[in-house]
Amino acid sequence: MNSQDYIAREDKYGAHNYHPLPVVLNRGKGIYVWDVEDKKYFDFLSAYSAVNQGHCHPKIVGAMTEQAQKLTLTSRAFYNDVLGEYEEYVTKYFGYDKVLPMNSGAEADETALKLARKWGYAKKGIPENEAKIVVCEDNFHGRTITIISMSTDPDSYKGFGPYTPGFVVVPYNNLEALEKELSDPNVAAFLVEPIQGEAGVYVPEDGYLKAAYDICKKNNVLFIADEVQTGIARTGKLLAVNHENVRPDVLILGKAISGGVFPVSAVLADDDIMLVIKPGEHGSTFGGNPIAAKVAIAALEVVKDEKLAENAEKLGKIFRDELSSIDSDMIELVRGKGLLNAVIIKPKGDKTAWDVCIALKNNGLIAKPTHGHIIRFAPPLVITETELYEALEIIKKTFREFE
Ligand code: PLP
Repeated sequence: MNSQDYIAREDKYGAHNYHPLPVVLNRGKGIYVWDVEDKKYFDFLSAYSAVNQGHCHPKIVGAMTEQAQKLTLTSRAFYNDVLGEYEEYVTKYFGYDKVLPMNSGAEADETALKLARKWGYAKKGIPENEAKIVVCEDNFHGRTITIISMSTDPDSYKGFGPYTPGFVVVPYNNLEALEKELSDPNVAAFLVEPIQGEAGVYVPEDGYLKAAYDICKKNNVLFIADEVQTGIARTGKLLAVNHENVRPDVLILGKAISGGVFPVSAVLADDDIMLVIKPGEHGSTFGGNPIAAKVAIAALEVVKDEKLAENAEKLGKIFRDELSSIDSDMIELVRGKGLLNAVIIKPKGDKTAWDVCIALKNNGLIAKPTHGHIIRFAPPLVITETELYEALEIIKKTFREFE
């Protein structure tokens, strides 16, 4: 079978809920992936920042295969000898009293929303069923019915109503609007992405997160950070909120907490918040399973051992400087933090960001457009300076081809 055959088979038997770049991968190692014709590519998406530690990291895969031969799933009906080890490790790692383990990012977001509502009733004294959660325009938190109910992107929500009530939308990066909404005593929480990844890597102004946190504190509102995409060293710090020394009341993690090896997500909070959820009120059959626990410990160790945050910080600056120096009338703007970056593409004739991504692929680098005109560049954080310059050569050459 060749690439076309694989694509045709997916097209025939799989739901059409994605529009992938026409490349069929069958192998990955570190920053590289190979297609079924054995062509090698720089991976500049990293599975939407899940593969921060690089493809098939031996330490993480080793932890998974070892645990997989011993015990894979007990459910939370019983204890196992690994979950506690992970819970202690991850709470100390991020500095919280408790963790609630889930699988996908969306589930972790749902968990945080339930936690916030319950806290609103039990601790803040909001009348039953009247809790509000303030969210940002152009947010992306996943694909469940409740999460798309918060979305302002018609692609996400249109045709899927009726929607879950209880959300108030404010413009991102706008403190005045936030201050106004949070004065409502029925607001339990403010949910925010420290950088809006899916929206196209929107970086708020310096100081926004800290000021937003302070407004939350003033109004007894929980500050919830969705770091599913920005967390785990991606933006040059362990968490993107660390750039502004903010400690969220509730922290949502996913993707790279497992190095892209296994679906693992987590919600972290201190006891006065987390313990409002009682036995039987929330859970997941696979959440906190022994494989996930061992995989996440290994993946988080790799982040520290290999100094991935420091590498992302240093190489991110080089990457943005080099991208900004490209002389192409298709590049409207370069933005980002650490190794989470994006280029805004100005179409040239009938050539769009999609065509640029196809040309990049042909030249040996894969990236994906978002919203039609933005290309996100997010390589695994194990990339070296030499490799980054090689990748930049491909990107420069590709833009030259459109001149
Ligand atoms: N939250 C953010 C900020 C995300 O970027 C994503 C996915 O891109 C999610 C939540 C959803 O994660 P998942 O696809 O694992 O459900």
